[in-house]
Amino acid sequence: MERFIYLVSIGEIERELIEFLKSNVEKIFNYKVKEYPHLVPIPSEAYNPKRKQYYSNQFLKLLSTLIIEDAFIVLGITNVDLYTDRLNFIFGQAILGGRESIISLARLDSRFYNLPFDKELLKIRALKEAVHEIGHTLGLSHCPNPTCVMYFSNSLSDTDRKSYNFCDLCKLRLSNSF
Ligand SMILES: [Zn+2]
Ligand SMILES: [Zn+2]
Repeated sequence: MERFIYLVSIGEIERELIEFLKSNVEKIFNYKVKEYPHLVPIPSEAYNPKRKQYYSNQFLKLLSTLIIEDAFIVLGITNVDLYTDRLNFIFGQAILGGRESIISLARLDSRFYNLPFDKELLKIRALKEAVHEIGHTLGLSHCPNPTCVMYFSNSLSDTDRKSYNFCDLCKLRLSNSF
């Protein structure tokens, strides 16, 4: 059976962004990408009112309960701001070598910083974070090369500096893992 990378919107996500991720993730990974056909609501139990943020691990847990027979990677996409243990916020999270991963668009959106909306920039940033988290599910760790997509983004400037492609070493690691 052919297996696919699935995109799962958690909460409403703009069509154009999903379409952009779908076609570009397909190109980068050489896997077909499908969209999960059901609306997945934001898990309210993940909300931390003190922080006004959502606990990311709950999103991964939610994704792990989805039964998708032909999925080998599941990428959740949400608009809400995520955090995890010992980190003030995260752009995304993944289970290393596992199935589930998640990205948050909240801090990739220039409006978060009271700047005018930049749709193209948001799409590119989302693609970088999506490729990064999918890279983790495929077993890749962080890469010290600041232009490689597997470089750890501590801040948005790290995300903007890196490309949405793997460096030669990460490409090699990726091809060796199959
Ligand atoms: Zn990472
Ligand atoms: Zn690399």
